[in-house]
Amino acid sequence: MSLKLKTRDTFTIHTDCLFDPKQKKFVKDTSIDVNPTTGLITKVYQRETDYEIVIASNDIDLRGKCVLPGLVDAHTHIFLHSYKEASSIYQMRDESIIERTIRATNHCRTALLAGYTTYRDLGTEGAQDADVHVRDAVNRGLIPGPRIFCATECLASSGGYEVRQENVIGGTFTPRISDPCDGVPGVRAGVRRRLAAGADIIKFYADYRKRTLRFPAPAYPGCPDIHFPPPETSGPSGIYNQRNPNLLLFRQDEMDEMVQEAKAARAPVAAHAQSAEAVMMAARAGVTTIEHGPEPMDGTDAMAMMKKNGVIWVPTIAVFDSELPPGDERRSHILKQVKTAYDYGVKLACGGDTGAFPHGENVREMELMLKAGVPLEEVLLAATLTGWEACGGDWCGKRFGWWEEGCAADIVALDGDVREDVGALRRVGFVMKDGRVWKREGVAVGMV
Ligand SMILES: [Zn+2]
Repeated sequence: MSLKLKTRDTFTIHTDCLFDPKQKKFVKDTSIDVNPTTGLITKVYQRETDYEIVIASNDIDLRGKCVLPGLVDAHTHIFLHSYKEASSIYQMRDESIIERTIRATNHCRTALLAGYTTYRDLGTEGAQDADVHVRDAVNRGLIPGPRIFCATECLASSGGYEVRQENVIGGTFTPRISDPCDGVPGVRAGVRRRLAAGADIIKFYADYRKRTLRFPAPAYPGCPDIHFPPPETSGPSGIYNQRNPNLLLFRQDEMDEMVQEAKAARAPVAAHAQSAEAVMMAARAGVTTIEHGPEPMDGTDAMAMMKKNGVIWVPTIAVFDSELPPGDERRSHILKQVKTAYDYGVKLACGGDTGAFPHGENVREMELMLKAGVPLEEVLLAATLTGWEACGGDWCGKRFGWWEEGCAADIVALDGDVREDVGALRRVGFVMKDGRVWKREGVAVGMV
């Protein structure tokens, strides 16, 4: 037995069941040295199995728990709360920015305690660039929360992503929910505006249900529906929506330009894309991630293009699961498509579109990816290391999601062995972010 030499404030975390995303396996008897001043891991090493640990007073013993890197939710909205409580239109139009900010503050705390140390927050949904300031409040230590990488406002073409109302002459004021831009020089300027506003990530809408007012659905109590509208869904999978279908918002040259401009500034790009056509065009442009992609991709080149260009797919299964009516056949189609993409070799990241369903329930995306048939180790990879890649990898200015000297000490411990019981994903007993403990023995600590 040898005594370890430590600098004055370095401490060690001891584990006996640690998930290593790089090896995609669980490793035994591993210890991690952390420098609390920098919040970084300084050393990772495997102990001799019969090594008798000397636990210093500031060390942390996580033996007997299942230890994971801090989790990354790759698709969130801190300003949204569950649509089951209030629809997005009510939230965006009627809630004050003060209420929305207070809610966002609570969401950040809840997510951190659920083991999510990083949020990839993809648009404020009507709160302009307020995400930048929530991010900074977390980074300045004013509120507890995940490390946030945010998109500010999303880019969409004119009339592409807006709150629609029939009474445009003196109707209710509605905030804008995207930064509209058109044409190659226009989208270039759009990317530049977002970067100047403080965005970490550029998000654009490759397609959207933009013809809302063509066959308008009743928008207020007592509003009559139109007679004989096209069916809301059709096709063998029931995914296509003929009443208000997903239609392209940008042309290929515009998507190419946004990606080129963002990448020149070392910013990753996320593309909202529901239809196979939009997935393919955004993937061809070389975006970092595709968000959603629920419409059938069979017989298209969408998956091949994602794979070829190393595009990460964030299928947001959780939001569809939460929004679709009980027994809807689209659920099984979405799960099947995720498994097909995994088998085909498309990279996946876990992001639930969290906010549309409650923050703190982020784990739902992992549970559904498992239900789709993606192996546990691959799902854990999608919720850690691939999440970091979705944030731009080294472009994001920080390393996290795996175990190595120089990585952020983001550490989560589950009460239970997730290999035997996936329910352990919901029993997060310990949370550390940047070397600071936020939850211990299942109880929040150190809250400001
Ligand atoms: Zn979203």
